[in-house]
Amino acid sequence: MRKIIAAGNWKMNKTPQEAEALITELLPLVNNDDVDVIFCVPFIDIPVAIEMLKGSNVSVGAQNMHFEDKGAFTGEISAKMLYECGVEYVIIGHSERRQYFAETDETVNRKILQAFANELIPIVCCGETLEQREEGITLDWIKGQITNAFVNVSAEQAKETIIAYEPIWAIGTGKVATKEQAEEVCKFIRETIAGLYGQEVAEEIRILYGGSVSGDSAPELFAMEDIDGGLVGGAALKADFGRIVNYNK
Ligand code: PEP
Repeated sequence: MRKIIAAGNWKMNKTPQEAEALITELLPLVNNDDVDVIFCVPFIDIPVAIEMLKGSNVSVGAQNMHFEDKGAFTGEISAKMLYECGVEYVIIGHSERRQYFAETDETVNRKILQAFANELIPIVCCGETLEQREEGITLDWIKGQITNAFVNVSAEQAKETIIAYEPIWAIGTGKVATKEQAEEVCKFIRETIAGLYGQEVAEEIRILYGGSVSGDSAPELFAMEDIDGGLVGGAALKADFGRIVNYNK
């Protein structure tokens, strides 16, 4: 039985002081032992989040990292730095990073390997544009993204990896994929993983849906067979995130 994940992607929102206020507001609302809760906060908010969430049911994630160990990469953050701060998860290959910061399937793959080398669990994003969906090439596109992401990733690592299917047309638009659309692609991702690693890994890997998830849509999405929770943007910054975490209550 795969445990549901509710991961909040705060994006470039909240100063450390604001993060403190948001965590104070959200913490009492996100208590659900049936769910793994993760706050993926901006780098600068990591220390305050780690301190405030110590001993709670909430883990801290980052939103990006570099694929090299260290060196002359001005402005970048390494996996080792994140790990030493107490970070457990890292989002890799979010569509906004692919769109605005030249993230490619190759850098996504290198980052996944580097995350595992530093005991971080990657939350790997994939998803199609509206044009790709309309052209009917969604599944081919997703297959390519997943296959490229998992090059040289071992079966043990693949089991630990979290995949987030995020149709780009649904991110930040208020347009949620229907539960059938989301399930179709999440099921296909699981089949793709089965093709790469076999049925056992495919049964264990957790696959999230992301794209305008809210307290209203979470229960029906998370009830689908191949959807193991959500990666949540806008609603992660509001009390509504508590309703998402408690989707089963
Ligand atoms: C995201 O940024 O990963 C996301 C899914 O955003 P939103 O929930 O706002 O669509």
